[in-house]
Amino acid sequence: MRQLASIQRIRKLEPILGADAILKASILGWEVVVKKGEFKEGDLCVYCEIDSLLPDQPAFAFLKPHKMRIRTIRLRGQISQGICFPLTVLPAKIELVEGKEVTEVLGVKKYEPPMPANLAGVAKGPFPSWIPKTDETRVQILQDRLNAFQGESCFITEKLDGSSATYYRRDGEFGVCSRNLELLPDPKNSLWKFAEDKQLAEKLATLDRDIALQGEIIGEGIQGNKYGIRGQTVYFFNAFDIDKYQYLNFGEFQDLLSTLGLASVPVLEKNYQLSNNISELVHLSIGKSVLKPVRREGLVIRPLNEQRDMEGRISFKVINPEFLLKYE
Ligand code: AMP
Ligand code: MN
Repeated sequence: MRQLASIQRIRKLEPILGADAILKASILGWEVVVKKGEFKEGDLCVYCEIDSLLPDQPAFAFLKPHKMRIRTIRLRGQISQGICFPLTVLPAKIELVEGKEVTEVLGVKKYEPPMPANLAGVAKGPFPSWIPKTDETRVQILQDRLNAFQGESCFITEKLDGSSATYYRRDGEFGVCSRNLELLPDPKNSLWKFAEDKQLAEKLATLDRDIALQGEIIGEGIQGNKYGIRGQTVYFFNAFDIDKYQYLNFGEFQDLLSTLGLASVPVLEKNYQLSNNISELVHLSIGKSVLKPVRREGLVIRPLNEQRDMEGRISFKVINPEFLLKYE
């Protein structure tokens, strides 16, 4: 699970032009607006990243009008992403060390956009345990890993704003899953409809191994259909070898999709040397979608050859701050 709330150090506090009562704090790779006088440079605080849902408790009552959700905002021209609390919001007994995750102790959950009726379907069961769920870590918490993988040859895809779709075949059985559930067959469900239209079950059956394909479904009725598509379609971003429990490398993934006649998420760069500069990466994320000239949600960056470290797969998202300001 992704770290949403943790103990972090305020590395820097800087004035904001034309604002007397607030300051810009630098925490990890984030810029966060804080009240003047609340923190000093070097202080530890509890930092919650955007899309945190805070528990409905007195300390967080001011978030009630915002449905308890932390979003990207702009204050006096300064973008602010996330929120800082004094350490006193933590229960006593918690060890106060920099980097410690406190998502569960605080009861912080991740905001998930509501699933539209055409995708929700009827659950067959939980998401299969033998396929990883789709998720991406935000670049802003990855400075150490960026340093370790600086210069690595990567590819960059456009991050699409839709809903997660997983299709698999395992031991002769075909399955369809939304982000967190496996779904019963249903001709009215958009994820199943796509599978029927593209004959995914038949296509996966032609392969000599058990594969899961994961992608983003976009179109009518999904996240406001920002790309103005008729109907719905899926763009894929993962192929996973179920028996080996590993993702296919980029080259093999692309070959597989073209064999099956399926579309990949837009590939923007095929040989990008990874930078370890977070603000440079955020700058790179600003731009228009390949699918339609609207602000793109962001980028997903991965090594051409799959890489892992102690914390898991090297793959991360860089969200376009202009997208967040417009759509949140
Ligand atoms: P988020 O939408 O912020 O929860 O970020 C993670 C999700 O982005 C994944 O679970 C995917 O469903 C989705 N996604 C959209 N486009 C891509 C892409 N190009 N690569 C990987 N994941 C993507
Ligand atoms: Mn999303």
